[in-house]
Amino acid sequence: MAEQKKPRTGGNPNNQKNGNNKKPRMSFMWVYVVIAMALGYLFFVGDDALPGSAGASKNVTYTVFKSYVENGYANKIVANKDEGTVKMYVKPEHYRDVFKQGVKDAGKQSFVQAEFPSADKLDEFVTAQQELGNFKGELSYKRSDNTFMQVFWNLFPLLLIIFVWMFIMRRMGSGGGGFGGMGGIFNVGRSRAQLVEKGGENESKVTFKDVAGQASAKQEVQEIVEFLKNPKKFTDLGGKIPKGALLVGPPGTGKTLLAKAVAGEAGVPFFSMSGSDFVEMFVGVGASRVRDLFRQAKEKAPCIIFIDEIDAVGRARANNAMMGGNDERESTLNQLLTEMDGFGTNSGVIILAATNRADILDKALLRAGRFDRQIHVDLPDLNERKAVFKVHLKPIKVDKSLDIDLLARQTPGFSGADIANVCNEAALIAARHGKQSVTKEDFIAAVDRIVGGLEKKTKVMTEEEKRTIALHEAGHATISWNLQYANPLIKVTIVPRGRALGAAWYLPEERQITTKEQMLDEMCATLGGRAAEELFTGHISSGAMNDLERVTKQAYGMIAYMGMSDALPNLCYYNQSEYQWQRPYSEATAQKIDDEVKKMIAEQYERAKALLLEKREGHAALADLLVEREVVYAEDVEKIFGKRPWVSRTEELLETDPPQTPPVEGGDEPPVE
Ligand code: ADP
Ligand code: ZN
Repeated sequence: MAEQKKPRTGGNPNNQKNGNNKKPRMSFMWVYVVIAMALGYLFFVGDDALPGSAGASKNVTYTVFKSYVENGYANKIVANKDEGTVKMYVKPEHYRDVFKQGVKDAGKQSFVQAEFPSADKLDEFVTAQQELGNFKGELSYKRSDNTFMQVFWNLFPLLLIIFVWMFIMRRMGSGGGGFGGMGGIFNVGRSRAQLVEKGGENESKVTFKDVAGQASAKQEVQEIVEFLKNPKKFTDLGGKIPKGALLVGPPGTGKTLLAKAVAGEAGVPFFSMSGSDFVEMFVGVGASRVRDLFRQAKEKAPCIIFIDEIDAVGRARANNAMMGGNDERESTLNQLLTEMDGFGTNSGVIILAATNRADILDKALLRAGRFDRQIHVDLPDLNERKAVFKVHLKPIKVDKSLDIDLLARQTPGFSGADIANVCNEAALIAARHGKQSVTKEDFIAAVDRIVGGLEKKTKVMTEEEKRTIALHEAGHATISWNLQYANPLIKVTIVPRGRALGAAWYLPEERQITTKEQMLDEMCATLGGRAAEELFTGHISSGAMNDLERVTKQAYGMIAYMGMSDALPNLCYYNQSEYQWQRPYSEATAQKIDDEVKKMIAEQYERAKALLLEKREGHAALADLLVEREVVYAEDVEKIFGKRPWVSRTEELLETDPPQTPPVEGGDEPPVE
């Protein structure tokens, strides 16, 4: 197994604490300030203050100013009443007289400036000079606030451009999130985790009561609440508090809800973020967001970090460098792994993550000390759906005649979110018709609408499909119950699970070696699904593909590797060399193997059909029960077929001990489209 790589973007998180996030922001702010000041200076002081473009200037007394005007040097006189100063622009031909320099050296707009005693006096003096012909121009006045408005209007287009530019950058930075967040281009490295906190604005009031069904998931998650509430109890005994748990299940089954409930029950802050939030078009952003998220979390410990859709970052890293992986995602994942290793088990930060594809996650994420617990959150079965309906019907004014049983029955394959949606939709439909309360018809209409919308996306089944799946699963169950060596059955369900349409759960025998009889019995039970379809629906379906694949592999193994057939006894053609295409047997043997495989499977299929015909009443009863209840347990099967006459070794052990090992599941997967 590959050792965990040193993250490329890694480094001590503490080093990065302030450096990465705040500094660039500050320096950019300074750039703004400097630019603004420069522009302000330029416009405020005006063009006449700058050398080159403007010209020389000189402060003089009022008397000198008067003498200049009397000598006819003035080109233009501008008085500023607010400042009490007057500027006299000098005629070019008199530059030498005033500045002792030519026009070339002094510049075009040279002036002298003086303080005048009063506006009236100045006015009087200038008028007199005009009458005398010493000054031909006008006396104009300039006011300071005028200057300000002028500056503003001059700056306006520029400000507009800066504003628009900042706006665009902000949008880019927050991934279209708008102005709201404290995002911005200089903040891309910050995590955009949503914080739900006690007393905060969006305080979580979700408790376990709000999560209907999901009994086993709730139980596992309850333990995490205990850890958060009372860590000492566990650490005193030397136990280690888990760092993370992975909630695995289809979308809308309440994974987020469960995580929120944990936070609500434990009364700790809750950071919520989606895996895709880490991924941005800028390289290195994901890693720095992870870092930031964990930094924030550590400050708030004890707390919960919830990462939804973790597969967006947690996908297995590419093994093959030649293929060129997604470097950005890999470095984000590496950072996540490092952070999870980085804090001690006692730091009080527990990470919950949700995914519906645990199988594609990087193995390193699932290793002990990270997400070492997997909690399955499945689609609700009939009774659980009833419970979910009860939760979501609470705020709705329903008609008294409404039958929740019927609603649950009408919604096979619906997730909790779908049911919440049905309730809402029904209320909307009722409101549209101006009703006082929501009736059964509204709910049926809502279900229809949602089925129509969902059909392609999720595993919503039609009645007929449900019946076919029930017949199929009942076939497996009937045969395994009635064959001596088949694994003992625990439960059968037709609730879609993962990619499987239905499943039968067995308790595997604890055995070191398997006999040919056991293998054949199991093969027969596996073929029972397809056999039941053929016998009782008259046509076969794609639902058995997974069964057939397993059976074919098993038969091939028995014949080619274990020497279990009559035509090829005691021969093992197991090929250990890495060159798989070199078969250690002849073309003729290959033909024989194929024939034997076909023969063995055909025999078991006939056996399955014969047994099903013999037990057809029982099978039909079981299928009906499945359609009605969706989950059927061993006790129910026992009521139909009677007690199994053979007691397996495992069952003997179980007399004293409840099952500890997880049951195996025979899933029925749909064909790959
Ligand atoms: P996930 O995270 O698994 O995709 P969510 O937790 O976001 O699903 O569920 C979406 C919504 O569906 C919830 O807000 C809730 O209203 C409803 N819901 C899902 N599962 C349940 C449940 N077991 N009990 C009650 N409501 C549920
Ligand atoms: Zn099957």
